[in-house]
Amino acid sequence: MNNDTIAAISTPAGSGGIGIIKISGENAKYIASLIFKKSGRNKNYILNESHKLYHGHIIDPDSQKALDEVLLSIMLAPHSYTGEDVVEINVHSGIFLLKTILNIVINKGARLAEPGEFTKRAFINGRIDLTHAEAIIDIINAKNKKALEIANTQVDGLLRNCVETMLNVLNNIIVKVEAGIDFPDDLESLSFDTDIKNIEKNVINKLNELISGYDEGHVLREGLKLVIAGRPNVGKSSLMNRLLKKDRAIVTSIPGTTRDIIEETIMISGFTAIISDTAGLHNTKDPIESIGIQKAKEQIKNADIILFVIDAKNPFTEEDKKLFEIINKKQLVVVFNKIDLLQEGILVEINEELKSFPCVRVSSLFNTGVEFLKETVKETAIKNIDCSHSAIIPNLRQKTALEKCLVSIISVCEGMKTGEAYEILSIDLKGAIESLNLVIGNSIKMDILNQIFSRFCIGK
Ligand code: GDP
Repeated sequence: MNNDTIAAISTPAGSGGIGIIKISGENAKYIASLIFKKSGRNKNYILNESHKLYHGHIIDPDSQKALDEVLLSIMLAPHSYTGEDVVEINVHSGIFLLKTILNIVINKGARLAEPGEFTKRAFINGRIDLTHAEAIIDIINAKNKKALEIANTQVDGLLRNCVETMLNVLNNIIVKVEAGIDFPDDLESLSFDTDIKNIEKNVINKLNELISGYDEGHVLREGLKLVIAGRPNVGKSSLMNRLLKKDRAIVTSIPGTTRDIIEETIMISGFTAIISDTAGLHNTKDPIESIGIQKAKEQIKNADIILFVIDAKNPFTEEDKKLFEIINKKQLVVVFNKIDLLQEGILVEINEELKSFPCVRVSSLFNTGVEFLKETVKETAIKNIDCSHSAIIPNLRQKTALEKCLVSIISVCEGMKTGEAYEILSIDLKGAIESLNLVIGNSIKMDILNQIFSRFCIGK
């Protein structure tokens, strides 16, 4: 691990009230003392007092002129974010000024930090575990209140505690199994009945709960994948434009106009939804259109909710039925569009197959029923997310490690039941323990760490 001194601009690019330059490492204090001139009478100050804010100026080393009036804070090791000496300089936020000061800091001996390097140092110096570090990325990326709440439960250590409880159970059992290997003559055949119950109750159940939490929670992390599907000309693009409140998709009365996937992000009552309009799904000989249709099928496969658009004037045609068979396995909201074309007082007859799904009547042309459609989408999405049983939602990396642990631990239980050799039980137990350790970052390899922290922005 490099323990040189790193520096970066920690605030986003662009003009603003305040910008922060962060410096961390052995020479942070020394570099600050070279470029900072404190205000007031006591010119012989030393930047030695931790958690103190100094008022003064950053001085250009070439011209000896003040570059900006700043507040400089010092947090000495180990009581800082990174566990090293940290200096933060609050300057007026203009990108030219920030870059000028950062350049001076680098000329005085710091190195430009890599993405996430401050947080990586916090992890390596034992200030935080990996679940906490990853929660910081989630906090930065949170797109809604619920996602932020979940990220904060990770900062509070809920996932770590949960993993540590499971590790405790498995560590106790491996001691017993290893004793069986080391002292075969001193121990009568071991009984694992209570251990199996313990593993099933406190490890397997918990792992299953955590893993299923991932699928429910990804909507909160990444946004709801909403796909508009329907046969050509039912008004999918018009509906998309209404949902986006702007003209984005091309609307024409020529069937098959939407050949490519158009993706946009909208907010639906606090939910982020990634919405895409698909090519109408129908048989065609046009090769370009066929590609669009293939892509549409892929979109449908990955969707969380499908808005199945039907022409209210001409509902549930043979073509609609074929399409319904393709998308039937998904969560649907049926949208009867073009209700303006119906005679007043005439209601759309809802076909038997569609009755179990929420059905909404809209006119994309006249913007009727679109708000109600959004509400229905929101309710359908919330119904699918049941976070009540667990406030902990792992990310993909954590989920993969938990799944690996589950495979190993199920094998341990089977082996215990069938009287498998202790050596084999030990190998599977160690595998399970290793996977759990990966979740919280114990003995994790540097290349995996680098991958995780590269998701951060520079300056965090
Ligand atoms: P897509 O092929 O399913 O994307 O359909 P478009 O959005 O391109 O619309 C096809 C045609 O139907 C266009 O002429 C639209 O103006 C028309 N259209 C779309 N929505 C409505 C609606 O709610 N009412 C009426 N009367 N026409 C509509």
